[in-house]
Amino acid sequence: MRQLVYDDDFKEIVSEKIKYWQNASDIPKKVKDYITNISNELIFRTYNDEYGYKDYCSNCLKELDVNHYCEHCQKSYTNANKKYIVYLRQQYMSDMKYTSSYTYVFDVVDDEVVLYNIENKLNYDHLAPLKYKESTFSIASIYDVKKDSLYERIEGHPLEYSKIEEFFNNPEAGEKITDIYVEFCLPNDNQFLYVDNLDELKKSSLYKYSQIWQLKNKFNNNDITLSSLTYNPICCKEFEYLIKMQLYNLAISCSEMNFGKGKNFKDIFGIDKKYYKFMKDIDITNKQYDLLKMYPTTDFDLLNFIAKDKYSLEMLKEYVKLEDLKKYIESQEDSEDHIRKYISDYYDYINGLIMLGADLKDKKVLYPKNFYEEHDRVSAEVMIVENPDLDQKIHDLSNVLSLNVYENDEYIIFPADSISSMIDESSQQQNCVRTYCERVGKNDCQIYFMRNKNAKDKSLVTVEVRDGKVVQARTKFNKDIDSRQRKFLSDWEKVMIPIIKGDN
Ligand SMILES: [Zn+2]
Repeated sequence: MRQLVYDDDFKEIVSEKIKYWQNASDIPKKVKDYITNISNELIFRTYNDEYGYKDYCSNCLKELDVNHYCEHCQKSYTNANKKYIVYLRQQYMSDMKYTSSYTYVFDVVDDEVVLYNIENKLNYDHLAPLKYKESTFSIASIYDVKKDSLYERIEGHPLEYSKIEEFFNNPEAGEKITDIYVEFCLPNDNQFLYVDNLDELKKSSLYKYSQIWQLKNKFNNNDITLSSLTYNPICCKEFEYLIKMQLYNLAISCSEMNFGKGKNFKDIFGIDKKYYKFMKDIDITNKQYDLLKMYPTTDFDLLNFIAKDKYSLEMLKEYVKLEDLKKYIESQEDSEDHIRKYISDYYDYINGLIMLGADLKDKKVLYPKNFYEEHDRVSAEVMIVENPDLDQKIHDLSNVLSLNVYENDEYIIFPADSISSMIDESSQQQNCVRTYCERVGKNDCQIYFMRNKNAKDKSLVTVEVRDGKVVQARTKFNKDIDSRQRKFLSDWEKVMIPIIKGDN
């Protein structure tokens, strides 16, 4: 890189090496102001087991109210979306001494593109009588952006990232090298891009056609990676194309995508052109686009539903319309948190039905009134079909174990006597006792159900016994038992006949 300057006598114009911004004083004021604004918008978040998270004003370090307003500074954190939150490992703010944000800034000199990474370190002193915050700037790294690679300058010597260059020249090795590249440029919550001079890049031959300046708003939301600033706009011809199509999210991750060859939309995107408007309207992400290709739809909610478990639903779409399945699951379960579990249990259910040779065209089979009842019935049948002797063994053993049936005024305890009984217990208690069938069949351990005498069908405590000792006793969701239940079990243990392997 060179620039034209007057010689020492101010007589001739000579070419000399460009002077990079060497230190903080070279950084233009407007850039510093921009960065200072960003650091004023940062909020800090800490975690505490008891209270969950707490947000703090990055200016005075006092706790923010629910609307992200700081009474002390009389400042409202308007941009306090998750991109502007700095997550602190420390549980307490008082442990914090400093934090840093990093801002990338482009500069174009003589058609050469330079990218600075500027560190803004915020120092705090909690022990001083007046808590203070001090902001200092430094240049963390300088990159020369070239057509073939990105060169980082260290103490004036260009250091070539050979792996990145390899990637540029060797698309075959693309995927593997991309990982390294992504790792290298992993964006943090506290990485930013100075967007006010992106138009400058129009002047450089490197970025001339990239349209990257159109991403100004997007980058303002902090959706940046180093590859979205360098590799993608320079080396991927799709970048410009996608920006012109207003598919901005796809543009910034275009090197991770596989586009088809061809001239029309369908050849390139692998999906009918009628979905283009939808893709544009939601500014589709790479991940959503993957789902859309798997199951074309313009229903955004459906797409989110599919995102919960792409793998299971990809198989299930062969048997059910996913629209119908979504409606069905939502009619059974309205809690968002459980939908993912429902999908994977439904996947098991359909696989079970296939194994049992059920009629998958029958709507009553596909969408039973009470899903988990049918699910458990099918699971039990599958396990019996897979282990024809196991159910019999469990039943035979239970005849022997019945010697240990025990009760007091309140409770009764009796052995599991079939695969179905264990699956039912597992389902009622939300535990994994169903996976014990084989161990129980071999008498490696014994499973007993402790229940209220006046509600013998309703699970209460699942008990595992080995060598005449209670080794596990859990109530619903694997919770501990209470003192009365504990007393009952210890009384029972005293009179229990140990039935060890080989006794039957
Ligand atoms: Zn404040």
